[in-house]
Amino acid sequence: MSAPALRIAVQKSGRLAEKSLELLEAAGFRVMKGANDLLYRVENAPIDILRVRDDDIPTFVGDGVADFGIVGRNVLAETDLGARAPGEAMALGFGRCTLKIAAPTGFKYANPHSLAGLRIATTYPRSLKRFLDAHGVEAEILTMRGAVEVAPRLHLAQAICDLVSTGATLEANGLEAYDTVLESEAVLIRAPKGVQPAFADLAESMLARFRGVSASRGAKYIMMNAPRARLAEITSILPGADAPTITPLAGREDVLAVHAVCQESVFWETLERLKGAGASAILVLPIEKMM
Ligand code: ATP
Ligand code: ZN
Repeated sequence: MSAPALRIAVQKSGRLAEKSLELLEAAGFRVMKGANDLLYRVENAPIDILRVRDDDIPTFVGDGVADFGIVGRNVLAETDLGARAPGEAMALGFGRCTLKIAAPTGFKYANPHSLAGLRIATTYPRSLKRFLDAHGVEAEILTMRGAVEVAPRLHLAQAICDLVSTGATLEANGLEAYDTVLESEAVLIRAPKGVQPAFADLAESMLARFRGVSASRGAKYIMMNAPRARLAEITSILPGADAPTITPLAGREDVLAVHAVCQESVFWETLERLKGAGASAILVLPIEKMM
Protein backbone atom coordinates (compact mmCIF):
# COMPACT_ATOMS: atom_id res chain seq x y z
CA MET A 1 0.00 0.00 0.00
CA SER A 2 1.10 3.52 -0.70
CA ALA A 3 1.56 6.21 1.95
CA PRO A 4 -1.44 8.50 2.44
CA ALA A 5 -1.53 11.40 0.02
CA LEU A 6 -3.79 14.02 -1.47
CA ARG A 7 -5.13 12.52 -4.67
CA ILE A 8 -5.78 14.38 -7.89
CA ALA A 9 -7.35 12.70 -10.90
CA VAL A 10 -6.19 13.97 -14.29
CA GLN A 11 -6.72 12.86 -17.87
CA LYS A 12 -4.22 10.19 -18.83
CA SER A 13 -3.92 11.14 -22.47
CA GLY A 14 -5.78 13.63 -24.59
CA ARG A 15 -6.29 17.35 -24.85
CA LEU A 16 -6.08 18.12 -21.13
CA ALA A 17 -3.40 15.60 -20.09
CA GLU A 18 -0.27 17.62 -20.77
CA LYS A 19 -1.68 20.94 -19.55
CA SER A 20 -2.89 19.42 -16.28
CA LEU A 21 0.61 18.23 -15.43
CA GLU A 22 2.02 21.59 -16.54
CA LEU A 23 -0.30 23.33 -14.09
CA LEU A 24 1.00 21.18 -11.23
CA GLU A 25 4.58 21.87 -12.29
CA ALA A 26 3.93 25.61 -12.58
CA ALA A 27 2.52 25.49 -9.05
CA GLY A 28 5.83 24.10 -7.86
CA PHE A 29 4.89 20.43 -7.59
CA ARG A 30 7.54 18.22 -9.15
CA VAL A 31 5.76 15.39 -10.93
CA MET A 32 7.67 12.10 -11.07
CA LYS A 33 6.69 10.07 -14.09
CA GLY A 34 7.31 6.64 -12.63
CA ALA A 35 6.96 3.16 -14.02
CA ASN A 36 3.37 3.02 -12.81
CA ASP A 37 1.37 4.45 -15.64
CA LEU A 38 -1.80 4.85 -13.63
CA LEU A 39 -0.25 6.75 -10.76
CA TYR A 40 2.35 9.51 -10.77
CA ARG A 41 3.85 10.83 -7.55
CA VAL A 42 4.81 14.35 -6.60
CA GLU A 43 8.38 14.47 -5.33
CA ASN A 44 8.13 17.44 -2.96
CA ALA A 45 4.63 17.02 -1.52
CA PRO A 46 2.36 14.12 -0.51
CA ILE A 47 0.32 14.25 -3.69
CA ASP A 48 -0.66 11.32 -5.89
CA ILE A 49 -1.78 11.87 -9.45
CA LEU A 50 -4.32 9.38 -10.74
CA ARG A 51 -4.23 9.19 -14.53
CA VAL A 52 -7.55 8.05 -15.98
CA ARG A 53 -10.07 8.58 -18.81
CA ASP A 54 -11.57 12.03 -18.49
CA ASP A 55 -15.11 10.59 -18.39
CA ASP A 56 -14.26 8.74 -15.17
CA ILE A 57 -12.88 11.78 -13.35
CA PRO A 58 -16.21 13.16 -11.96
CA THR A 59 -17.12 9.71 -10.61
CA PHE A 60 -13.71 9.23 -8.98
CA VAL A 61 -13.98 12.59 -7.28
CA GLY A 62 -17.65 12.12 -6.44
CA ASP A 63 -16.90 8.80 -4.76
CA GLY A 64 -13.93 10.24 -2.87
CA VAL A 65 -11.41 8.00 -4.63
CA ALA A 66 -9.70 11.28 -5.53
CA ASP A 67 -9.90 14.55 -3.56
CA PHE A 68 -9.67 16.70 -6.67
CA GLY A 69 -9.90 16.29 -10.41
CA ILE A 70 -9.09 18.30 -13.50
CA VAL A 71 -11.70 17.89 -16.20
CA GLY A 72 -13.59 19.82 -18.87
CA ARG A 73 -16.67 21.61 -17.55
CA ASN A 74 -18.54 19.91 -20.40
CA VAL A 75 -17.74 16.49 -18.93
CA LEU A 76 -18.73 17.58 -15.41
CA ALA A 77 -22.03 18.98 -16.73
CA GLU A 78 -22.80 15.71 -18.46
CA THR A 79 -22.38 13.46 -15.41
CA ASP A 80 -25.39 12.85 -13.27
CA LEU A 81 -24.17 11.95 -9.78
CA GLY A 82 -26.90 13.57 -7.71
CA ALA A 83 -25.71 14.21 -4.16
CA ARG A 84 -22.27 12.84 -5.00
CA ALA A 85 -21.72 15.43 -7.72
CA PRO A 86 -18.32 17.14 -7.36
CA GLY A 87 -18.29 20.93 -7.14
CA GLU A 88 -16.30 23.22 -9.41
CA ALA A 89 -13.54 24.69 -7.23
CA MET A 90 -11.84 26.83 -9.86
CA ALA A 91 -11.76 27.48 -13.59
CA LEU A 92 -8.27 26.81 -14.91
CA GLY A 93 -8.10 28.84 -18.11
CA PHE A 94 -7.06 26.11 -20.54
CA GLY A 95 -8.92 23.58 -22.71
CA ARG A 96 -11.42 26.21 -23.76
CA CYS A 97 -14.17 25.09 -26.10
CA THR A 98 -17.87 25.69 -26.61
CA LEU A 99 -20.74 23.26 -26.83
CA LYS A 100 -22.75 24.56 -29.75
CA ILE A 101 -25.83 23.89 -31.80
CA ALA A 102 -24.82 23.47 -35.43
CA ALA A 103 -26.67 22.62 -38.61
CA PRO A 104 -25.96 22.46 -42.34
CA THR A 105 -25.02 25.86 -43.79
CA GLY A 106 -28.17 27.63 -44.93
CA PHE A 107 -30.33 26.25 -42.11
CA LYS A 108 -32.76 28.97 -41.07
CA TYR A 109 -31.83 29.37 -37.43
CA ALA A 110 -33.45 32.24 -35.60
CA ASN A 111 -33.50 30.99 -32.00
CA PRO A 112 -33.75 27.68 -30.08
CA HIS A 113 -37.36 27.31 -31.23
CA SER A 114 -36.05 26.73 -34.74
CA LEU A 115 -35.08 23.29 -33.41
CA ALA A 116 -38.65 22.31 -32.43
CA GLY A 117 -39.63 18.88 -33.70
CA LEU A 118 -36.20 18.18 -35.18
CA ARG A 119 -33.77 15.44 -34.38
CA ILE A 120 -30.45 16.59 -32.91
CA ALA A 121 -27.40 14.33 -32.69
CA THR A 122 -24.98 14.76 -29.80
CA THR A 123 -22.60 13.09 -27.38
CA TYR A 124 -23.89 15.54 -24.74
CA PRO A 125 -27.55 14.53 -24.26
CA ARG A 126 -27.91 15.94 -20.73
CA SER A 127 -26.50 19.34 -21.55
CA LEU A 128 -28.61 19.50 -24.71
CA LYS A 129 -31.75 18.46 -22.82
CA ARG A 130 -31.13 21.19 -20.24
CA PHE A 131 -30.71 23.75 -23.03
CA LEU A 132 -33.89 22.68 -24.81
CA ASP A 133 -35.88 22.55 -21.56
CA ALA A 134 -34.64 26.00 -20.56
CA HIS A 135 -36.12 27.35 -23.78
CA GLY A 136 -39.24 25.19 -23.67
CA VAL A 137 -38.34 23.47 -26.92
CA GLU A 138 -39.37 19.89 -27.73
CA ALA A 139 -36.95 18.06 -29.97
CA GLU A 140 -35.65 14.53 -30.33
CA ILE A 141 -32.15 13.86 -28.98
CA LEU A 142 -30.08 11.23 -30.75
CA THR A 143 -27.21 10.18 -28.50
CA MET A 144 -24.08 9.12 -30.35
CA ARG A 145 -20.66 8.01 -29.10
CA GLY A 146 -18.70 10.11 -31.58
CA ALA A 147 -18.52 11.42 -35.16
CA VAL A 148 -21.58 13.54 -34.49
CA GLU A 149 -20.60 15.95 -37.27
CA VAL A 150 -21.42 13.40 -39.97
CA ALA A 151 -24.99 12.81 -38.71
CA PRO A 152 -26.67 15.48 -40.88
CA ARG A 153 -24.99 14.24 -44.04
CA LEU A 154 -26.16 10.70 -43.26
CA HIS A 155 -29.67 12.08 -42.66
CA LEU A 156 -29.55 10.75 -39.12
CA ALA A 157 -30.34 14.21 -37.74
CA GLN A 158 -31.10 17.71 -38.96
CA ALA A 159 -28.88 19.43 -36.41
CA ILE A 160 -26.11 18.56 -33.98
CA CYS A 161 -24.86 19.70 -30.59
CA ASP A 162 -21.10 19.37 -30.39
CA LEU A 163 -17.90 20.86 -29.00
CA VAL A 164 -16.29 23.53 -31.11
CA SER A 165 -12.97 25.23 -30.59
CA THR A 166 -11.86 26.58 -33.98
CA GLY A 167 -14.86 25.64 -36.11
CA ALA A 168 -12.65 23.91 -38.69
CA THR A 169 -14.34 20.52 -38.20
CA LEU A 170 -17.79 22.05 -38.64
CA GLU A 171 -16.74 23.85 -41.79
CA ALA A 172 -15.18 20.71 -43.24
CA ASN A 173 -18.57 19.02 -42.81
CA GLY A 174 -20.64 21.83 -44.30
CA LEU A 175 -22.00 22.86 -40.91
CA GLU A 176 -22.41 26.20 -39.24
CA ALA A 177 -22.64 26.96 -35.51
CA TYR A 178 -25.74 28.84 -34.37
CA ASP A 179 -26.25 28.84 -30.62
CA THR A 180 -24.19 28.21 -27.49
CA VAL A 181 -25.20 25.49 -25.08
CA LEU A 182 -22.21 25.67 -22.75
CA GLU A 183 -18.93 27.59 -22.47
CA SER A 184 -16.30 25.14 -21.31
CA GLU A 185 -12.73 25.08 -20.06
CA ALA A 186 -10.75 22.81 -17.78
CA VAL A 187 -11.94 23.12 -14.19
CA LEU A 188 -10.67 21.88 -10.86
CA ILE A 189 -13.36 19.81 -9.20
CA ARG A 190 -13.57 18.92 -5.55
CA ALA A 191 -15.12 15.99 -3.67
CA PRO A 192 -18.53 16.89 -2.21
CA LYS A 193 -17.57 15.64 1.24
CA GLY A 194 -14.36 17.67 1.24
CA VAL A 195 -10.72 16.61 1.10
CA GLN A 196 -9.18 14.12 3.51
CA PRO A 197 -8.78 16.10 6.78
CA ALA A 198 -5.04 15.36 7.05
CA PHE A 199 -4.49 17.17 3.75
CA ALA A 200 -6.75 20.18 4.23
CA ASP A 201 -3.81 22.60 4.58
CA LEU A 202 -2.01 21.16 1.60
CA ALA A 203 -5.21 21.44 -0.43
CA GLU A 204 -5.61 25.10 0.53
CA SER A 205 -2.04 25.90 -0.44
CA MET A 206 -2.43 24.01 -3.71
CA LEU A 207 -5.57 26.00 -4.54
CA ALA A 208 -3.82 29.28 -3.76
CA ARG A 209 -0.92 28.33 -6.01
CA PHE A 210 -3.26 27.29 -8.84
CA ARG A 211 -5.03 30.63 -8.50
CA GLY A 212 -1.66 32.36 -8.73
CA VAL A 213 -0.66 30.39 -11.82
CA SER A 214 -3.97 31.13 -13.56
CA ALA A 215 -3.82 34.80 -12.64
CA SER A 216 -0.25 35.30 -13.81
CA ARG A 217 -0.84 33.50 -17.11
CA GLY A 218 -0.90 36.19 -19.77
CA ALA A 219 -0.72 38.90 -17.12
CA LYS A 220 1.87 41.64 -17.50
CA TYR A 221 3.37 44.33 -15.31
CA ILE A 222 3.25 47.67 -17.06
CA MET A 223 5.08 50.86 -16.05
CA MET A 224 5.03 54.30 -17.66
CA ASN A 225 5.20 58.01 -17.07
CA ALA A 226 1.91 59.82 -17.55
CA PRO A 227 0.97 63.48 -17.65
CA ARG A 228 -1.05 64.27 -14.54
CA ALA A 229 -3.75 65.94 -16.63
CA ARG A 230 -4.45 62.77 -18.65
CA LEU A 231 -4.19 60.20 -15.87
CA ALA A 232 -7.83 59.08 -15.97
CA GLU A 233 -7.68 58.57 -19.73
CA ILE A 234 -4.45 56.58 -19.47
CA THR A 235 -5.60 54.29 -16.67
CA SER A 236 -8.81 53.59 -18.58
CA ILE A 237 -6.76 52.23 -21.50
CA LEU A 238 -4.92 49.65 -19.35
CA PRO A 239 -6.43 46.22 -20.07
CA GLY A 240 -7.82 44.45 -17.00
CA ALA A 241 -5.91 46.53 -14.44
CA ASP A 242 -7.62 47.48 -11.24
CA ALA A 243 -6.11 50.06 -8.90
CA PRO A 244 -2.83 51.05 -10.57
CA THR A 245 -0.08 52.44 -8.35
CA ILE A 246 0.48 56.14 -8.97
CA THR A 247 3.67 57.73 -7.61
CA PRO A 248 5.19 61.19 -8.05
CA LEU A 249 8.42 61.62 -10.00
CA ALA A 250 11.21 63.57 -8.33
CA GLY A 251 11.26 67.13 -9.59
CA ARG A 252 8.33 66.72 -11.97
CA GLU A 253 5.01 68.29 -10.96
CA ASP A 254 3.19 67.53 -14.20
CA VAL A 255 4.19 63.88 -14.65
CA LEU A 256 3.42 60.78 -12.55
CA ALA A 257 4.69 57.21 -12.62
CA VAL A 258 1.94 54.62 -13.23
CA HIS A 259 2.51 50.94 -12.39
CA ALA A 260 -0.15 48.31 -12.94
CA VAL A 261 -0.74 44.59 -13.29
CA CYS A 262 -2.68 43.95 -16.48
CA GLN A 263 -4.71 40.75 -16.36
CA GLU A 264 -5.19 40.70 -20.10
CA SER A 265 -2.72 40.69 -22.96
CA VAL A 266 -1.00 43.98 -23.67
CA PHE A 267 -0.87 44.49 -27.42
CA TRP A 268 1.18 46.96 -29.47
CA GLU A 269 -2.09 48.70 -30.20
CA THR A 270 -2.58 49.30 -26.47
CA LEU A 271 0.89 50.83 -26.23
CA GLU A 272 0.17 53.08 -29.20
CA ARG A 273 -3.01 54.31 -27.54
CA LEU A 274 -1.10 54.97 -24.31
CA LYS A 275 1.50 56.93 -26.23
CA GLY A 276 -1.25 58.82 -28.02
CA ALA A 277 -2.62 59.79 -24.60
CA GLY A 278 0.75 61.24 -23.65
CA ALA A 279 2.37 58.32 -21.82
CA SER A 280 6.14 57.91 -22.18
CA ALA A 281 8.87 55.48 -21.10
CA ILE A 282 6.41 52.57 -21.29
CA LEU A 283 7.76 49.23 -20.07
CA VAL A 284 5.90 45.91 -20.20
CA LEU A 285 7.34 43.11 -18.04
CA PRO A 286 6.40 39.45 -17.71
CA ILE A 287 5.15 38.26 -14.33
CA GLU A 288 6.63 35.05 -13.05
CA LYS A 289 4.54 34.39 -9.98
CA MET A 290 1.54 35.99 -8.35
CA MET A 291 -0.20 35.31 -5.07
P1 ATP B 1 -10.47 10.28 -22.96
O1 ATP B 1 -9.66 9.28 -23.67
O2 ATP B 1 -9.80 10.72 -21.69
O3 ATP B 1 -11.90 9.85 -22.75
P2 ATP B 1 -11.60 12.21 -24.83
O4 ATP B 1 -11.35 11.72 -26.21
O5 ATP B 1 -12.95 12.03 -24.25
O6 ATP B 1 -10.48 11.58 -23.88
P3 ATP B 1 -10.33 14.75 -25.51
O7 ATP B 1 -10.64 14.80 -26.96
O8 ATP B 1 -8.91 14.51 -25.09
O9 ATP B 1 -11.31 13.76 -24.72
O10 ATP B 1 -10.84 16.12 -24.88
C1 ATP B 1 -10.76 16.36 -23.52
C2 ATP B 1 -11.42 17.69 -23.22
O11 ATP B 1 -10.76 18.74 -23.92
C3 ATP B 1 -12.87 17.85 -23.66
O12 ATP B 1 -13.78 17.22 -22.78
C4 ATP B 1 -13.02 19.35 -23.66
O13 ATP B 1 -13.28 19.83 -22.35
C5 ATP B 1 -11.64 19.85 -24.07
N1 ATP B 1 -11.56 20.38 -25.45
C6 ATP B 1 -10.95 21.52 -25.83
N2 ATP B 1 -11.07 21.74 -27.14
C7 ATP B 1 -11.79 20.74 -27.64
C8 ATP B 1 -12.24 20.40 -28.96
N3 ATP B 1 -12.00 21.14 -30.01
N4 ATP B 1 -12.92 19.24 -29.12
C9 ATP B 1 -13.15 18.45 -28.06
N5 ATP B 1 -12.75 18.74 -26.80
C10 ATP B 1 -12.08 19.87 -26.57
ZN1 ZN C 1 -13.53 11.04 -22.74
